Amino acid sequence: MTDAALAPAPKPWIMGIAPYVPGRATADNGRPVVKLSSNENPFGTSPAARAAYRSAADELERYPDAAAVELRAALSAHYGVEADRIVYGTGSDEVLHLAAGTFAGPGDEIVFVRYGFAVYEIAARRVGAVPVIAADADYATDVDAILAAVTERTRVVFVANPNNPTGTYTPRGEIARLHAALPRDVLLVIDQAYTEYLDADDDDGALALARTQPNVLVTRTFSKIFGLAAERVGWGYGAPALIDAMHRIRAPFAFGIGAQRAAIAALGDAAFVEESRDHNRTWRAWFGEQVAAMGNAGLRALPSKANFVLVLFEGRLSAETAYHALMAAGYATRWLPGQGLAHGLRITIGSEADMRAVVDVLRAEVEKAG
Ligand SMILES: *Cc1c(COP(=O)(O)O)cnc(C)c1O
Repeated sequence: MTDAALAPAPKPWIMGIAPYVPGRATADNGRPVVKLSSNENPFGTSPAARAAYRSAADELERYPDAAAVELRAALSAHYGVEADRIVYGTGSDEVLHLAAGTFAGPGDEIVFVRYGFAVYEIAARRVGAVPVIAADADYATDVDAILAAVTERTRVVFVANPNNPTGTYTPRGEIARLHAALPRDVLLVIDQAYTEYLDADDDDGALALARTQPNVLVTRTFSKIFGLAAERVGWGYGAPALIDAMHRIRAPFAFGIGAQRAAIAALGDAAFVEESRDHNRTWRAWFGEQVAAMGNAGLRALPSKANFVLVLFEGRLSAETAYHALMAAGYATRWLPGQGLAHGLRITIGSEADMRAVVDVLRAEVEKAG
């Protein structure tokens, strides 16, 4: 009675998803390398967060607090956001999926920029929505192109600020202009995964919009400056009606007890965050200058406000050759041919020694390429 050829059929939109490719931690021969491929914090995490995480080892049999009461209270105190307007998930990745899944479905459209964060396309396709890609402006977010891509079927617009993988930043006035021109029934998601790396005067205004507007969601993560990527803690802030709807589909126990405690402790360690930001600012600027000095060989560093730099290879030396040379020297970077960036390498700002070594390798390759 059984038909050997019969099998459960994945939804067609699921098979349209190109699987996410994570940053590499090993070379082709399996040797561990310095990982400058996933925008992790080279300082690790706060010692206080590490200690708080360890304390959870005594409670492994317990479910974590599904309501994340203490974490939301800590976020509220730290950022001045109301605790009952916070949603959270297994990394901000999950919060992005919640946004797509709550507000879009088959036939709807989700807009984001070319060279945007890879998860947006997966989040759109996963729910059967159509990903709509707005043109960039020399790799940066182009508000007019986004607005031109919006139709009556658009339900969600994703903007990362700073953007990954380009590192580019959209200033407050442009974010305000984008929001003002969007219909109020379109959700504007401002993904602020790198916001803690910004200088104090670089507020894009998204949190204030999320406080007052019915259609703005800000997402944040503990994976980047707080150094807790392993523990998958992300959150979002927006109008009560948005948050209430998103809570209905999130995983009830998004992250563990250790994750919640570590996140709370990390929020309290301002010195660690400041040290991380200062180091990043210094070595990002230095690295940018070194790449600029290789400008006549066709190398170009896009202006970045994040903890990584996208280097374009527009001369004789290819990004692919540079990628393999760096890997052979023990440095994993992110080459992104699958995102239309076969000519780009995204390089996380690591330790001083790492950055000097990366520049040495690039210089040697420029020489070799002639
Ligand atoms: C890293 C990153 C995230 C996701 O981080 P999580 O670890 O899932 O919290 C979200 N958006 C952007 C733009 C990122 O680069």
